[in-house]
Amino acid sequence: MSVDEPIDILVVGLGPAGSRAARAAARTGLRVLGIDRRRKPGQPVQCAEFVPTMLDQSVEGLDAVTRQRVDAMMTYVEDEAPHATTDFRGRMLDRGAFDAALVRAARQAGADCRFGVSAAEIGRDGAVTLTDGTVLRPRLVIGADGPRSNVGAAIGRINREIVETRQIAVPLLRRHDATDIFLSAGIVGGYGWLFPRGDIANVGLGAVHTQRHRLKPLLDVLHRRLAGEGRVGRGILGFTGGSIPAGGMLDPVGALDDVPVLLAGDAAGLTNPITGAGIGPAVMSGTLAGEAAAARLAGDADALQDYAEEIEALFGAANARALMRRRDIMRSHAEGAGPSPDELRAGWIAWPEYWATPDRATTAETTLSRSPR
Ligand SMILES: Cc1cc2nc3c(=O)[nH]c(=O)nc-3n(C[C@H](O)[C@H](O)[C@H](O)COP(=O)(O)OP(=O)(O)OC[C@H]3O[C@@H](n4cnc5c(N)ncnc54)[C@H](O)[C@@H]3O)c2cc1C
Repeated sequence: MSVDEPIDILVVGLGPAGSRAARAAARTGLRVLGIDRRRKPGQPVQCAEFVPTMLDQSVEGLDAVTRQRVDAMMTYVEDEAPHATTDFRGRMLDRGAFDAALVRAARQAGADCRFGVSAAEIGRDGAVTLTDGTVLRPRLVIGADGPRSNVGAAIGRINREIVETRQIAVPLLRRHDATDIFLSAGIVGGYGWLFPRGDIANVGLGAVHTQRHRLKPLLDVLHRRLAGEGRVGRGILGFTGGSIPAGGMLDPVGALDDVPVLLAGDAAGLTNPITGAGIGPAVMSGTLAGEAAAARLAGDADALQDYAEEIEALFGAANARALMRRRDIMRSHAEGAGPSPDELRAGWIAWPEYWATPDRATTAETTLSRSPR
């Protein structure tokens, strides 16, 4: 790679947000470089791999990367019998294959996608030094580099509330066509899950990052319970985990000197603060970021502001509601023994209480962390 390689748009991170951004921008004929510190697209997988069927509207060819479909959600509150949410339809993806397919699509559109190279330093003047020593001076930067985004940090947008996760893959002994959610006051700021993928299940647990030391013992308890019920095997086929931003949306537009910067996906805090679902928002925001970047470089002075407004319109209300519910749950933990079963229900999407009182959701929306532009 040559020093001062001429590029128009640098996309940092080639997960779903970055790949979609690179594809959308490259389609306009601009010189787009995407970089990712991983050695291979989508590997290692750090995901429970569920997406709602709504994603079909944004990504073509999902059947080829789907392991199985689910049509319901079963929610367990403490030791109560499960609550069934029927007509909760989605796909369990092969996330590695999904991410790889998105990278292929970006390359087909003309984006140069490189793996095994990171943005080591992002200068205040917009110059980006890569780990191989190359210095790039892009006309615009898109930060799609995940929950602990370096690009976001360079423009002062930082996900300060992080949920940490631990997940195991275990044999699934009985066919299951639902996603299972386990809510408990013992899991602070998160939940447990069993998501099926054929004859294997992703069993995992997320909790607020200060409780990360409890993830292993809590996951062991959930695994033993499921194995005791004869639903999963005792053997463990694989481990993964990772961080999830849970503090709400960040302002996705900034600048380094005169170089515009856009954030997309987890870097922009778009993951739902209650469910942790972030693949859909990453795909959608990435596409919009790539289009806005290309429009800006073509002379549309409003393109970046329009991007921020579209993101707000698409995700603002849902994200604000989730953030409000999360704050309620965390308040119960701070004030006493933690949330009661009723409070846990009010904090989860399966119950009408979660969706009630839209006026409070609007209030929470105004408290989202927004940095001055
Ligand atoms: C355990 C777990 C389970 C999850 N389960 C689900 C689920 O079932 N459904 C769902 O919708 N969401 C789920 N999520 C969330 C979902 O995975 C994310 O929201 C989604 O991956 C966000 O996509 P992204 O492109 O913004 O970021 P990522 O997918 O995180 O991609 C960011 C990329 O940037 C790269 N990168 C980072 N820093 C640099 C750098 N300095 N230079 C170059 N490259 C860099 C990384 O290597 C990475 O490839 C889960 C998350 C975790 C951790």
